[in-house]
Amino acid sequence: MSEDCIFCKIIANELPGEILYRDDRVTAFRDIQPATPVHVLIVPNKHIPSMNEATSEDEAVLGHMQLVAKKLAIKEGIAEKGYRLITNTGPEGGQVVYHIHLHLLGGKSMAGGLV
Ligand code: 5GP
Ligand code: ZN
Repeated sequence: MSEDCIFCKIIANELPGEILYRDDRVTAFRDIQPATPVHVLIVPNKHIPSMNEATSEDEAVLGHMQLVAKKLAIKEGIAEKGYRLITNTGPEGGQVVYHIHLHLLGGKSMAGGLV
């Protein structure tokens, strides 16, 4: 838990969040400013600022985040048409919140370009 981290506060129920999934390792909640009709953030319960600070100790939880994202894609009804999983890292990667998160984006076509 990092005292000044908004995602740590959502995980700890100290800030409101529309939580869709939670287990002992990860939490998933809807993005407050959805970029696509379905926009869910999957975060590790442990505070890891960004991919740059992730270590081999975090390998299992990073894989778990991907599989939780897949399950949520099915639950949200976007698995068949497709979706995008993104982890922004650092200023040029567009990271704003420094607690690792996986964006699950879907519900509209993103085909035709990556950036
Ligand atoms: P980043 O740019 O760091 O990859 O993404 C941060 C995301 O967190 C943004 O999509 C932003 O809308 C979302 N976000 C920022 N503050 C909050 C918040 O307090 N609650 C929720 N649910 N999402 C947030
Ligand atoms: Zn945090």
